[in-house]
Amino acid sequence: MKVYSHEKQMLHHPQSYFSRGKMRQPQEKPERLTELLKAPQALGLTVITPKDIGIEPILAVHDLGYVDFLKNAYSEWMAVDEEMGEEVQTTIYMPNNNAGIGILAKAAKYQADGSAPIGEHSWTSIYWSAQTALNAADALLNDEASQKSNQDNIQVCLTRPAGHHARKNAAGGFCYLNNAAIIAEHLRQKFQKIAIIDTDMHHGQGIQEIFYDRKDVLYTSVHGSPINFYPVVAGHEHERGNGEGEGYNINIPMPHGTDEAGFFYYVDQSIDTLKLFNPDVIVHVLGFDVYKDDPQAKCQVSTQGFKTLAQKIKALNKPVIVLVEGGYCIEKLNENLQAFLSGFIEEK
Ligand SMILES: [Zn+2]
Repeated sequence: MKVYSHEKQMLHHPQSYFSRGKMRQPQEKPERLTELLKAPQALGLTVITPKDIGIEPILAVHDLGYVDFLKNAYSEWMAVDEEMGEEVQTTIYMPNNNAGIGILAKAAKYQADGSAPIGEHSWTSIYWSAQTALNAADALLNDEASQKSNQDNIQVCLTRPAGHHARKNAAGGFCYLNNAAIIAEHLRQKFQKIAIIDTDMHHGQGIQEIFYDRKDVLYTSVHGSPINFYPVVAGHEHERGNGEGEGYNINIPMPHGTDEAGFFYYVDQSIDTLKLFNPDVIVHVLGFDVYKDDPQAKCQVSTQGFKTLAQKIKALNKPVIVLVEGGYCIEKLNENLQAFLSGFIEEK
């Protein structure tokens, strides 16, 4: 098993989080990564520092104008006048404006909600989060030996900020670049079929949108019912893909308040779908926000449950890239990640 993380992912430090009619304390803090990094250390696993693979794999998924916005928004924002807030945060949502003139129009186009502000160093972290994921994908593309031995071919990326809510051309839900989509697309150079299994508390509507018309990338997600729960505009069972992609988007929404047995009942359904698809590579979007005491949780997964989850993924006997994304019960991230990693390391 290989673990990847880049320290520049710590630089992004949101100051605002506007959600459900209220300005809230940011939950997506740099300390999240500090805690996550303790887990591989405790287990004696080396954390690999990713190298720069470049912008091309990112632009294979995201619009150039959007990527340019993420990169330059902060300096353009601060140059408007001295009254501007300390980070780019729109209060106007108009995705169809042409965004030709002015940073506020660009923010209105490219920021989909109040939970993806852009500060001075955000782009650096966003970029290295994508590179962290891409390094795992590149290892799989370049290493013939590791492609053959499936059991040992598990790569875990500690990414921050997360990605699964990011659209082709919009940030939202603490996400900016869609790392799962970027690596799925990158892996398609060599592999025919990629399955993305998402067990974060929230539906990854960005991944769904990006692959909605395609059958070469399966997206299957277990998540809290989107009725009055983020991302609210997507994640229902009837959203099954479009055209030749029909049937390759499988949403399994859980009723709010689902217990741990219920969570695994739904995860098993998701895994059954994935087995039928028989992918060459699995990308697992892992959220620790399903943990029972997480401020975002609408279900009741225990620390031990993360070990069970890893065992289920390992049992599929395929190359796996795990992207650690959500999880806001900061004091438990180390313990929960250790439990998850131990499910890959230990024999049953
Ligand atoms: Zn989440």
